[in-house]
Amino acid sequence: MQLTVTERLLLLNILPPQGNVLMLRIIQELKTTLSFTEAEHREIGFWSPCVDCGKEERTHSIDGHPFVPAPGRVNWSQEADVPREISIGPKAFSLIAETLEKLNKSNQLQLEHLVLYDKFCLEDKVSERLLVEEDGHRG
Ligand SMILES: [Zn+2]
Repeated sequence: MQLTVTERLLLLNILPPQGNVLMLRIIQELKTTLSFTEAEHREIGFWSPCVDCGKEERTHSIDGHPFVPAPGRVNWSQEADVPREISIGPKAFSLIAETLEKLNKSNQLQLEHLVLYDKFCLEDKVSERLLVEEDGHRG
């Protein structure tokens, strides 16, 4: 599945922190799959903006205040944010779809999650429908 840097970061953020053994194994694997390799880190060039002025460290001047990276905030080059092929197995796919569906049902889905919802929840339904149609042909 083609995923952008943004989508991967969003997915890493919504993965449930708890669950049963099976779920946790899937989550552990997903975290590895969705995380960025060293080569990707170099390519994407993540950086944290200064908490006060939003500038990055290498262009930050020491006029008045020291560089303090904003906690939890990362920026990256938008040109490097091209979709990359990430292999997500069927169990991991369902887990993500269920997580998004839970957020949806409890009205906690955020605008930035919409693209994920479309990818995982709507495509899931499409593939389910295809399976049903396939079964219909066989029967
Ligand atoms: Zn600053």
